[in-house]
Amino acid sequence: MKLYSTNNKDLRVSFKEAVFNSMPQDKGLYMPVEIPALDADFIQNIEKYSLPEIAYKVASTLLKDEIPADDLKALINDAINFDAPAVKLDDKTFVLELFHGPSLAFKDFGARFMSRVMAYFLKDGEKLLDVLVATSGDTGGAVALGFLGVPNTRVTILYPEGKVSPIQELQLTTNGQNIRAVEVKGTFDDCQALVKQAFADAELNAKFRLTSANSINISRLIPQTFYYFNTYAQLKKQGLTDVIFSVPSGNFGNIGAGLLAYKLGLPVKQFIAATNINDTVPRFLETGIYETKPSTQTYSNAMDVGAPSNWVRIMNLFKEDVEELKKVVTSYRFNDEETLAGIKEIDAKFNYVACPHTAIAYLAIEKFRKEHPEDQSATVFLSTAHACKFPDIFPQDIAAKIEIPEQVKALESKPKHADKLGVDFEGFKRYLLEN
Ligand SMILES: *Cc1c(COP(=O)(O)O)cnc(C)c1O
Repeated sequence: MKLYSTNNKDLRVSFKEAVFNSMPQDKGLYMPVEIPALDADFIQNIEKYSLPEIAYKVASTLLKDEIPADDLKALINDAINFDAPAVKLDDKTFVLELFHGPSLAFKDFGARFMSRVMAYFLKDGEKLLDVLVATSGDTGGAVALGFLGVPNTRVTILYPEGKVSPIQELQLTTNGQNIRAVEVKGTFDDCQALVKQAFADAELNAKFRLTSANSINISRLIPQTFYYFNTYAQLKKQGLTDVIFSVPSGNFGNIGAGLLAYKLGLPVKQFIAATNINDTVPRFLETGIYETKPSTQTYSNAMDVGAPSNWVRIMNLFKEDVEELKKVVTSYRFNDEETLAGIKEIDAKFNYVACPHTAIAYLAIEKFRKEHPEDQSATVFLSTAHACKFPDIFPQDIAAKIEIPEQVKALESKPKHADKLGVDFEGFKRYLLEN
């Protein structure tokens, strides 16, 4: 597999290089030069394969010989060791539960695969890989739990004091082993500024092998294609082959992976990009003008993104042809009031509790159906996180139905530990050098 930069189509780097760099120096994003079609026979018979088998087929088609077959199979079995069931709500409506991994969010697919790919490429005796992450909540948990116990790696996670939910704090602070949590007396932006300064610091770079485990890393995108194929397989088993996916979108990595799956040959009829009022993409598809904005806080806070970092990848997949893109991608936005109404509607109709991000994807399906009453496709809305991660959003009667998963219960009895730091870079630097 060779990759180019979206800012330089002539650049060629290996998968390993792209994984450790995260981002090309020209600040573009890495994209595969070649997106080979999966063989038609595989798609025809996809319902006969398991999730790990599908994952191997897709990954090996893209990666070619970057990782030998047996190693890649073992890596996938270790990384994707939880289910992604498409739960049937009615004849034509399914919710794809992507929250059965350790951090209870779909980011586990990306983080677990990335950590194992990095560990695979680190040769014995190489310098320890030091991952630095700033988080406002969800990404940090997925990265911490994704790298937990992975040899030859160490993760330092910075989070703002008092700004993450109780479950997120548990996920960040109870790990021990190769994971350190740092509670910063400041905001998320302060955390991010500290990490950025560390990456730019010559002394730290001389001493440590630093990496960002950034959400735009190509090794996080690839494993997110797996569950689109696997869902198609689950529906095909039930005789449903016209499929629409609705994806709650913030940085557009998740739906970007869906569109990559489409380009690899997955016969999806339509993708719906569902956003909150941070609506740069729906506005672009309406007006043709791509205008980013500072983000606004909403109930679906993992989607509070005013400048979606993966959008350029999606434009590249469609060779910058907006008309072609619009044939496959529809986009709608919903505000907090609508989100809450959506949560209540899903509960009333299906007795199902959806997190606020998931509710937005559901609302988008309903809107699409209203606009296309003739369309009889099966619809799948992606549930990107477990409802228990957002306890403050729900009305009491719905909140009472939320079951706390085993993964969380297991953390509650563990001791919490976070090192506490201020917002000054010198303090953070000293902490890194001395610990
Ligand atoms: C990260 C996240 C999203 C947004 O996914 P993108 O790939 O950034 O579009 C949606 N829901 C939840 C719960 C998330 O954590």
